[in-house]
Amino acid sequence: MNILVLNAGSSSHKLCCYAIPDGLIDGPTAPLAPLWAAQLDWHPKQERVDINIEASHLTYQTHHAIATRQERLASVIQTLWDGPTAVLSSAKEIDAVGHRVVHGGTDYQQSVVITAAVKATIDRLSEWAPVHNPINLEGIELMEQVLPDVPQVAVFDTAFHSQMSVVAATYPGPYAWFEQGIRRYGFHGISHQYCAQRAAQLLNRPLAELRLVICHLGNGSSLSAVKQGHSIDTTMGFTPLDGLMMGTRSGAVDPGILVHLMRQGQSADEIDQLLNQESGLKGISGISNDLRVIKRAIEDGNPRASLARDLYLHRLKACLGSMIMSLEGLDALIFTAGIGEHSPELRAAVCSSMAYLGIALDEKK
Ligand code: ADP
Repeated sequence: MNILVLNAGSSSHKLCCYAIPDGLIDGPTAPLAPLWAAQLDWHPKQERVDINIEASHLTYQTHHAIATRQERLASVIQTLWDGPTAVLSSAKEIDAVGHRVVHGGTDYQQSVVITAAVKATIDRLSEWAPVHNPINLEGIELMEQVLPDVPQVAVFDTAFHSQMSVVAATYPGPYAWFEQGIRRYGFHGISHQYCAQRAAQLLNRPLAELRLVICHLGNGSSLSAVKQGHSIDTTMGFTPLDGLMMGTRSGAVDPGILVHLMRQGQSADEIDQLLNQESGLKGISGISNDLRVIKRAIEDGNPRASLARDLYLHRLKACLGSMIMSLEGLDALIFTAGIGEHSPELRAAVCSSMAYLGIALDEKK
């Protein structure tokens, strides 16, 4: 079965085509390498789109003037069966398209075949994920136009957290908030779920026996507490702004700060911009949202870069503590995403502060 996957973001479209062997559909084994992968990076200010396509040990890079997103996406998808990167004989060999959709609200607890009603719900939920859901929906509609006969499936970032207890999901504001849907949803669920399954496999233990904390540390960062294969707590909340400090997002801050800023005359849009784009590693360092750049600045003696790194670590430890308390124990600590995967220094700094919990780092490994 060939599945094309689209992760549609505001500045990029990432696509992968996987040939899923029979019997694999119910759970991951070792990570499956895609047959074909493509990325479109949109640079509207420079009126340019960078396209990278990889297939069968062949990498193909081009830069184009921006045409419509649909035209560019259609031409990239066509390289699946046309030209040097072709891995299929025709579009007919694609059995389904999977879309990452950020917010499924309380409407979706698992993946769903996309219909007009599903699209209307994703659109309605844009109110709660204005940066993500409209772009995800646009991706679905683009794909429907390019591959009209192929079933499209929405896979929600919120779904893995949808079994959280009411206690974990409720914000201690007025109860009416909960009734209005203002509650913790949690995000990055697709990553947290995969990591939980894969960790159980690598540990060679049933997932149902494990208490896991999963640290998804990328530009967006969140932690989850996974017990018996279910997310029972997570740091992101009603929106992907809650919880841990991130690349450009603040994570949790005293809500009184927002009231203070509003009283000083700042608008909702201005505060939104501050919290989502001007905060986190970038806001504190004043240099970059990228930990690699911050690391180099620390080496050059930049004190705000040091503060940004130390604050990130401090916040990460606080989030970790709260996840471990929810789990009442810990069998494995898992790191993933850009920082989690590529920063051994940060992993070591976290683990060395957890020796009293029985974590001992093997420096050689
Ligand atoms: P996104 O949330 O955008 O999907 P990623 O998971 O790709 O983000 O993570 C991107 C971030 O990972 C970068 O902004 C950078 O901070 C971090 N990163 C990537 N490689 C390294 C590295 N070698 N060392 C430290 N941080 C890294």
